[in-house]
Amino acid sequence: MSESLTFLAVHAHPDDEASSSGGVFRLLKDQGVRTVLVTCTNGEFGDAVGGIKPDQPGHDPDAVAIYRKGELEDSCKILGIDRLVMLGYRDSGMMGWPQNDDPKCFWSTPLEEAAEKLAAILNEERPQVIMTYNEIGFYGHPDHIQAHRITLSALDLLDYQPTVYFNAIPASVFARFREVIEESQTEEENDEARESEEEQMDLGTPDELIGAAIDVTSVADAKFDALQAHSSQLDESFFLRMGRERFKEVMGTEWFVRAVSPFAHDDVVTDLFVDYR
Ligand SMILES: [Zn+2]
Repeated sequence: MSESLTFLAVHAHPDDEASSSGGVFRLLKDQGVRTVLVTCTNGEFGDAVGGIKPDQPGHDPDAVAIYRKGELEDSCKILGIDRLVMLGYRDSGMMGWPQNDDPKCFWSTPLEEAAEKLAAILNEERPQVIMTYNEIGFYGHPDHIQAHRITLSALDLLDYQPTVYFNAIPASVFARFREVIEESQTEEENDEARESEEEQMDLGTPDELIGAAIDVTSVADAKFDALQAHSSQLDESFFLRMGRERFKEVMGTEWFVRAVSPFAHDDVVTDLFVDYR
């Protein structure tokens, strides 16, 4: 094994580290890999304590940011993350929200500026493996798209070529998830979801594009706990509604597309560091 392996994930909001990479974070840490999390925004437009939505009275974005930082730090402890870097950008809200026009929000930040900040961290940590989202930010959120863009731009500022993975859900699995969600919801909730454009988005990646499938069943409890650490954001969390046991069964794998790599693979790898050990 080479002497020092480092994994770095670039996420948009506090809680994304748990939902889209909680398993690999804990697994890699247990394998002795150094793990670094870059969280781009403070998550101001998540729910406030008590489930208050950003467009409801009593939602104080700055108070939400402070509260979510504490939750993020708890999640990092559970996942064994060695270093957390918050870039400190303001949450942009969903596509079309007025928050997007705030010049301090992540979506409005010039790409070069944020990419340079990220590149400085990458040059310091020199992770062999980086994880972020695909060009649609996995589900279309502006901050996730921006996280993708700054990561790809930062690569041009490095003097080495890391391997970059985008998180993904295979189309076949996504169809199954939809069934699980429908099973867990009432008829009324299902009718509502069918009318909601957002919930009808097809987030599946064609199965043949999946480049890594990581078995995280052994650390599913830690992933569940990390999600739970973000308790202010769990209003409608289908993960937690499943309960711990069902979660283990359903969420036992994390999938990735191998987006950039100095190494070629035709097969689906089962270890993100397969080329570096
Ligand atoms: Zn997010």
